[in-house]
Amino acid sequence: MTSKILFLSILSFLLLGCEKNEQQPIQFAENVVVAHRGAWKTDGLPKNSIAALKRAIELGCTGSEFDVRMTKDTVLIVTHDPEYGGLNIEETNYAELAKTKLPNGEVLPTLKEFIQAGMADNTTTGLVCELKPSDNADRNKIMALKAVQLVEELKAEAYLHSYISFGYDILKEIHELNPTVKTQYLTGDKSPLELKTDGITGLDYHYNSYLSNNELIPSAREHNLSLNAWTVNDASTIDWLIANDFDFITTDEPELAFERVKKHPSSTGYELVWGDEFNYIGKPDSTKWAFEKGLVRNQEAQYYTDELTNARVADGMLIMTAVKEQVKNESFESTEHKRWQNNREFAEYTAPSLTTKGKAAWTYGRIEVRAKLPEGRGLWPAFWMLGEDFPEVAWPTCGEIDIMEHVGHRPDSIFSTIHTEAYNHMKGTHKGKKIFIDQPYDSFHVFAVEWTPKNMQFFLDDAMYNEIENENKTTAEWPFDDNFFLKLNIAVGGMLGGREGIDDEIFPAEMLVDYVRVYQKTDK
Ligand code: MG
Repeated sequence: MTSKILFLSILSFLLLGCEKNEQQPIQFAENVVVAHRGAWKTDGLPKNSIAALKRAIELGCTGSEFDVRMTKDTVLIVTHDPEYGGLNIEETNYAELAKTKLPNGEVLPTLKEFIQAGMADNTTTGLVCELKPSDNADRNKIMALKAVQLVEELKAEAYLHSYISFGYDILKEIHELNPTVKTQYLTGDKSPLELKTDGITGLDYHYNSYLSNNELIPSAREHNLSLNAWTVNDASTIDWLIANDFDFITTDEPELAFERVKKHPSSTGYELVWGDEFNYIGKPDSTKWAFEKGLVRNQEAQYYTDELTNARVADGMLIMTAVKEQVKNESFESTEHKRWQNNREFAEYTAPSLTTKGKAAWTYGRIEVRAKLPEGRGLWPAFWMLGEDFPEVAWPTCGEIDIMEHVGHRPDSIFSTIHTEAYNHMKGTHKGKKIFIDQPYDSFHVFAVEWTPKNMQFFLDDAMYNEIENENKTTAEWPFDDNFFLKLNIAVGGMLGGREGIDDEIFPAEMLVDYVRVYQKTDK
């Protein structure tokens, strides 16, 4: 009896003792942020150092990526380039390479030391292990085998987020050695179907691969593959990847990625329903955009065209250009004609006006445009919306939402405004506000409206500066429970833009539009 009790108490002591020493189990953090070569940038740490890995763990990234190479004596080490300390890694033994320390004093980490560091005090951050391919196929096989064996030996399986590689054979080899591990292919030259067939579990392609191939994301989803993109360091692309529900985003800027996740429309329930990233070349996509042509409104001086000189897509941008050039007005009838559109024989400027009319329209949502405005007195760029029933229902009864208007003679401000039957500039009752804009011509800004049944909120970058409530009266005050289409244009002169004349020295004047995105809430 006594010995039994003694035995039990020893047993429970052992169990408790074990429990105390046992690590907290790791569960990869529920975010998309994978620190590329660790979180090195903010603190100036060496890339691929244990210090940068520790920092990624402190930040709570879901993953921390690092690069693995193999020395001449087949030691797996963590470093990026094929050379280290001026020595070719494949032709040099580890002991020799390790004589050179990392800039922060760390010893060149072996993969074993690196994984062990990643297993200490880490409950959040998976190890994203990139195996750098050698030209020598045999070495690749050995490297894959050694990596998988090492992870098993260290019992590190739960810490290993995934193996990634530009070497397709390396990933296939890993899959053969252990079919349960996650693998992501980096090169971008395989279709999701091919990856699926070969047992690869995800895509980790350069972000441009996704931007330039609309099929890639849906096809990856269809085949149940995870989606990751490298190496994404700007807010605009990070936002797009979040909007497209990427599983992972590999970045040198993990802090920025966390900030974007927090501020992203998806954090308040918005889903991307329409957009143009302008990641193609030539004419704006005709499935999304139509053009206004000729002399259209406000006595403006420009003639709208669909020419490439006025609107073309290149370098990931919609390039909208106002040009000083005389063109014949095709609607000209005589100089005596009553309508100004018919009494001007020529126009002295050309410019673009893109519209989604007939292509796309929305009721409620967040409509945002990232752009760099054109500079010069006489210009009047705008992003705005009109009720879909225009012109059958006349302005202002159809309703107008001006997300952004800017006039060159007031270079420090932008305006957002609504026009309705009850509130419009003809009566001087339109509801609008202006806000100071810093560097409208030298930097990109995001201009947005968040439009709900209750109100409209206008944003410049992350700041909401104009809020208009639905007073719940009639459609004369609030015609905004209906579909509206979007326009992007540059006007020259006209009633508002031309108030202080047109400076002919400013042409050609360019506006760059990085993207247009429309978000809606599914429970709208
Ligand atoms: Mg890498």
